[in-house]
Amino acid sequence: MKAQSPYEPTLARALTHALNHLARLEQTPVAATTTLEELRGRLAQPLPTEGMAPEAVIDSLVADTQGGVLGTQGGRFFGWVIGGSLPAALAADWLTASWDQNAALYACGPAEAVLEEICGIWLKEVLQLPATASFALVTGCQMAHVTCLAAARHALLARRGWSVEDDGLAGAPVIRMLSSNQRHGSIERAVRLLGLGQRHVVDLPVDAQGRLAPATLAAALRESTAPTIVILQAGDLNIGAYDPFAELIPLAHEHEAWVHVDGAFGLWANASPAHQHLLAGVGQADSWATDGHKWLNVPYDCGYAFVADPEAHRSAMSHRASYLVHAADARDQIDWTPEWSRRGRGVATYAALRQLGRNGIAELVARTSRHAQALTRGIGALPGAELVWESAVNQGLVRFLAPSPGASAADHDRRTDEVIAAILATGEAFFGGTTWRGMRCMRISVCNWQTSESDVVRTIAAVAQVLEKGV
Ligand SMILES: *Cc1c(COP(=O)(O)O)cnc(C)c1O
Repeated sequence: MKAQSPYEPTLARALTHALNHLARLEQTPVAATTTLEELRGRLAQPLPTEGMAPEAVIDSLVADTQGGVLGTQGGRFFGWVIGGSLPAALAADWLTASWDQNAALYACGPAEAVLEEICGIWLKEVLQLPATASFALVTGCQMAHVTCLAAARHALLARRGWSVEDDGLAGAPVIRMLSSNQRHGSIERAVRLLGLGQRHVVDLPVDAQGRLAPATLAAALRESTAPTIVILQAGDLNIGAYDPFAELIPLAHEHEAWVHVDGAFGLWANASPAHQHLLAGVGQADSWATDGHKWLNVPYDCGYAFVADPEAHRSAMSHRASYLVHAADARDQIDWTPEWSRRGRGVATYAALRQLGRNGIAELVARTSRHAQALTRGIGALPGAELVWESAVNQGLVRFLAPSPGASAADHDRRTDEVIAAILATGEAFFGGTTWRGMRCMRISVCNWQTSESDVVRTIAAVAQVLEKGV
């Protein structure tokens, strides 16, 4: 008889626990049911002197985290912008860990190098980006910004005869960045990490639809001849607004600016024929950042960077050392990513794209957007609620009004936060708050492939009950 693999009992335990977790999402509360103190009490044991059996480690891990794992994998989690994971993508992620390849080079993970190569081709096709663009699979949109903006920094300074890779930034021309004031905070962090200085990001106001207007950008571009990066938004985090790319990008290019697009979730609208009008002209940009772990429903961590000029991208990232084995023809991921050793994150992306196919992705975008709109309208129509923004994609805003006559703006803000907390306490659904145009609002974000019409109905009923009972 063949000896059992030393992994078998432990992996079998993990499978059972994972299936239990996933099967119980319908019944268990979506929000946390433990406190910080409880979690620390269970997990913060002294560093063990002696080891223990691996199966027991897994069992106790599951027991000790009870109530501290949010129901993000289920259909009623609408907080932040959080995707679930498709069965093929989750299973592929397990295989990735089992294979444990170092996906830095073709030489140390041939299959993973080819999987990423194909992911790049497919992703550009689905997202309708130029087939000639270079790409990198990174940890998330945050690092996609870093990768793309490093390429921008290289290209803009090279044009002025400055090698940022050799000489650094001290003494280099200052790069200014123009973007709408609705940008995501990950832009600032990318700018800080790259030494560009967040002081050099100029906040531009948006129009009533949350978009950067061409006249606003034109005026800002005229103000200086400094090397410039224009950062545009494909789906902002509050209302899913899309900047008018077809007008803005040619304008920026007239001034020789580099155009970077933050499309963390919103770029996926280009996969849906019913939504791609929102992105008209986006393909003319110089770089694009998006996520796999949000709308595509790949497990964390997974983001994608694309750069129209592969030479700028490669110059910013490429690394060659004598002891590395570089393949003449194959793709070495290390030439395109900011990392050295890394997980083979192409495996889950490849699996997700195959499970859904082009039509499945289009349908996922359309379906989740429809559910977000139904939730926004349904909750917005309840007594004591107000629809604040219904978006063309998978985001929406509502707020809750304090019932007392003559209630102030501050009363409505307080009421909104109280209702959000009360909804979380029911365990039926999870939402987050935001301050948008000076108002506290509840954000509705639908990114999970599992959200169904009955989840929408169940959620609206839960919110109605909270409002009826009074908070
Ligand atoms: C989530 C998000 C980001 C950051 O993406 P990560 O994957 O969390 O790094 C950037 N921009 C927007 C609009 C987002 O929604």
